[in-house]
Amino acid sequence: MIKITLPDNSIREMPDGATAADVAAAIGPGLAKAAVGAIADYGHGPVTLDLAAPLTGDCRLKLLTDRNEEALTILRHSTAHVMAEAICKLWPQTKLVYGPPVEDGFYYDIDLDHRLKPEDFEKIEREMATIIAEDRPFTRYEMSREDGLAKVRREGNPYKVENAERAKGDRLSFYVTGPEPGRYWEDLCMGTHIPRTGRIAAYKVLSVSGAFLHGDASKQQLQRVYGTAFFDKKKLAEHLTRLEEARKRDHRKLGHELGLFVLDPVVGSGLVLWKPKGAIIRLLLEEHLRAKLRERGYQPVFTPHVGRLDLYRTSGHFPYYRDAQFPPLYESDAARLLNELWVAIAEATPAEGWPKDADKLLGELKLADENIWSRLTGADSGVPASQVLRRDPQARDANLQIIREHLQAGDGYLLKPMNCPQHIRIYASDPHSYRDLPVRLAEFGTVYRYEQSGEVSGLTRVRGFTQDDAHIFCTPDQLQDELASCLELTRYVLEMLGLRDYRVRIGLHDPNDPKFIKNPEAWAEAEAAIRAAAARSGMSATEEIGEAAFYGPKIDFVVKDCIGREWQLGTVQVDYNLPVRFDLSYIGADNRPHRPVMVHRAPFGSMERFVGILIEHFEGAFPLWLAPVQVVVAAISEKSATYAGEVFETLRKAGLRAELDDTAEKIGPKKHRARQMKVPYIAVIGEQEAAARMVNVNDREGRQIGNLALDDFVSKLQEENQPGGRDASAQT
Ligand SMILES: [Zn+2]
Ligand SMILES: [Zn+2]
Repeated sequence: MIKITLPDNSIREMPDGATAADVAAAIGPGLAKAAVGAIADYGHGPVTLDLAAPLTGDCRLKLLTDRNEEALTILRHSTAHVMAEAICKLWPQTKLVYGPPVEDGFYYDIDLDHRLKPEDFEKIEREMATIIAEDRPFTRYEMSREDGLAKVRREGNPYKVENAERAKGDRLSFYVTGPEPGRYWEDLCMGTHIPRTGRIAAYKVLSVSGAFLHGDASKQQLQRVYGTAFFDKKKLAEHLTRLEEARKRDHRKLGHELGLFVLDPVVGSGLVLWKPKGAIIRLLLEEHLRAKLRERGYQPVFTPHVGRLDLYRTSGHFPYYRDAQFPPLYESDAARLLNELWVAIAEATPAEGWPKDADKLLGELKLADENIWSRLTGADSGVPASQVLRRDPQARDANLQIIREHLQAGDGYLLKPMNCPQHIRIYASDPHSYRDLPVRLAEFGTVYRYEQSGEVSGLTRVRGFTQDDAHIFCTPDQLQDELASCLELTRYVLEMLGLRDYRVRIGLHDPNDPKFIKNPEAWAEAEAAIRAAAARSGMSATEEIGEAAFYGPKIDFVVKDCIGREWQLGTVQVDYNLPVRFDLSYIGADNRPHRPVMVHRAPFGSMERFVGILIEHFEGAFPLWLAPVQVVVAAISEKSATYAGEVFETLRKAGLRAELDDTAEKIGPKKHRARQMKVPYIAVIGEQEAAARMVNVNDREGRQIGNLALDDFVSKLQEENQPGGRDASAQT
């Protein structure tokens, strides 16, 4: 007998070899019918199981029905199999590669000479419908690794052969979409699957895009076919509506249509050009935040876009994150070689000691700068032995120091990946007493990250972006107040933009994970401060162990936009690491030096990503205070053009962003164009309005606001022209 512990902690004894389906049947016929899979834990963590899989011993068991999120993943993987079978039936030359479930659906990578088009999706869905109507069972069978490999090789699909070769373990498993192997379609697969195809109630083939084998651009180009599936039709319909909403709001599409920004391959991938209309939005956000920062005692600073490699060696950003950075710029060939030598020695394993590359690099250095080479190698007999590199593994740190000293005369530079080290050097340039803390240094600082070209997208994944960054240097006693103030500021900023639906997530360290710096007292102090600050703010916060930065705990705001998507914004992080690395101090009340605590914080995060999110949130229809153009003044005919010009000038002098449309076109198309550009108000000027010195006002929804005296219109706009101002056009 085996002992099965159910989620309510009740225990069921089952005969050896019982399956999850047997357990469901023992509990009741309703569950037996509803179950689609199970999660078992034999004491080494949860694993998902087919209902038909025999349980191999005592375990905790959770039966999954269509109500469980985990069941959706199983359903989608099974639907991927059904879709693959349908594609193979339609195009028998298809070579399948790999078809996993993903968030919101699944995909299958295929190698097929016929380029799939949206017109093909319906055909595929019709084939899928047949397989689903046949309500075939998913049947697993296993073979020894050797026999399984021989079978896959016989079938001749090189991708599956590779998958089988990469699979771990001494057995290979296959899933037949049918009762037994041989007569039905099948796939090399680890599982898990739903019991029968008939459980796929709602599904859709969504899109096809290019993909490279293993995501490697040097490898075979494949087609990636995306789809999704649900246990009921209503859920699928809701999902499709959400996708359609997201498509309409896509900031890449709207950014282009509204003339906000451009991504120009001539300039560079992932490098955003802000056009005048987009720049206004960014500038208004920056100006508004700057004013709030001044009120809160932040001091603005400016720092350059590049910094010496040695600065980032001290901070640790180089070489550890160099894969995410643009390659360094070197002052000379010798500087490049010295840096490469430094990295080779720094990254050599203790067993390796003196890295293989080192001699080659020294050889090149001899050609580039014989003087430095002879000093480093001792060929110059006037150099003291302590300044000569040694091959002894014990000499690693001394060697690194010797090379760093040579780099003082000529180094490399990085496009800055972070603003923190520069701000730290500003702090360190003056002596500090506890009386002048906290020091809060703020900068809209542009940083550069070398995202892989496949990852670059719109404003959200870019290679250069501007953080609304600031660093606070404070005493441990001040930490809680500073954190509370950062939370309050972030909250203010989000709410002024109407982003009121958010939750707060506290990332704590995991004491058992070696990636977190060892400093139990500092962690305890910082985590207590962060919890207390969150509690003081009155916001409900969830805690996640292991989600801290490696150097300290953090708080994120997770914001829901108006179509329910979540975005992580407004990060506040405590840092005990950089103050040590840069040996920062302040003089305490006891007249002795102490280590300050550092806080990194950015309410918007990056201006690029934040504006991208705002474009999608507002669907391009920005509130009046952020709208690049607030009013279009449109003359009905030439007869009213002079007065229209006067209205335009009046609005402009009142500090409003107006545009004059005095083209010869009819008023209809003029209004239509202004609405398409999502301009909040359109002031129509005809002869009557001109005679009465009035304006006829429409909003971007096409509603008539009515005839207003020009002065009244100006004061109405001025009243509305502020964050949180009464925005009539947003009231739908
Ligand atoms: Zn599979
Ligand atoms: Zn920072």
